[in-house]
Amino acid sequence: MSTTLNNKQVFVTGGGRGIGAGVVRMLAKEGYDVTFSYRSAETKADTLLSTLIEQYPDQNFAALRADFAMREDVEKIAAHLSKSNQLYGFVHNAGMTYDALAPMVDQSRGEDLMQVNFWSMTQLIKAAVRPMMREKSGRIIAIGSITARMGAQGNATYAATKGATASFMKSLSVEVARKGVTANVVSPGYVDTEMLATYADKREAVEKRIPIGRYAKSNEIGSLVAFLVGPQAACITGAEIPIDGGLSASIGFKN
Ligand code: NAP
Repeated sequence: MSTTLNNKQVFVTGGGRGIGAGVVRMLAKEGYDVTFSYRSAETKADTLLSTLIEQYPDQNFAALRADFAMREDVEKIAAHLSKSNQLYGFVHNAGMTYDALAPMVDQSRGEDLMQVNFWSMTQLIKAAVRPMMREKSGRIIAIGSITARMGAQGNATYAATKGATASFMKSLSVEVARKGVTANVVSPGYVDTEMLATYADKREAVEKRIPIGRYAKSNEIGSLVAFLVGPQAACITGAEIPIDGGLSASIGFKN
């Protein structure tokens, strides 16, 4: 049973499954009211919603369908955010990958990726930050990736969307700091979700390179996000925090 936080609302994009669902679960556990978006994972979103409603009957939960490749869907969610009276937190988690070698990148596919991973985030933040600044309190978090700062063979455009996210969030953090709003990036390494399903045959080799020896779990990413949303994190802003089992700290081989 959680303690409720006077209906403090947090919106999470792509919360129906994977890391987003971990973020939703951990925020709910901390007592927040959570609304999340989903695109195709309707059944998983419904199941998550029913579980939360049963587990935390004193809190409010909702799920909205939106495809951030479609600008009208971004506008629909932006309108929802700007009308929220008690919006306290916004987490942009929804994201896609695009596997292509850097010299082979197709611009149209790259632009589609940028729309979902980056541009939709900028427009949703534009809407979310106003109610937060009015209340002089708020938390904005983007799920980045350690690929923003490392070479990601075969994933250059994806890494670039996460690099753009990190740069945008740093500038945002400075602009909104005096209004009581923090803005941070949580950058996972490898997390056990469907996004990595196509690389399943490489998992053992990858885990050998990770200092803690395993992928992160969605709930572990969710716990870090929940901490950053919480009152103890008021002084943390403009940060890009890796959560990768030490992967980005390692030179990659053992003596
Ligand atoms: P995932 O299991 O593939 O889930 C992707 C999430 O994004 C789903 O909730 C999906 O919604 C949503 N989404 C995808 N395209 C969308 C679109 N066009 N419009 C709206 N929502 C869309 O991936 P994940 O691992 O949980 O990834 C979540 C975030 O973490 C992403 O930003 C990803 O880049 C980042 N990340 C993941 C890893 C990793 O190792 N898994 C590492 C670093 C960073 P539906 O399922 O409803 O379609």
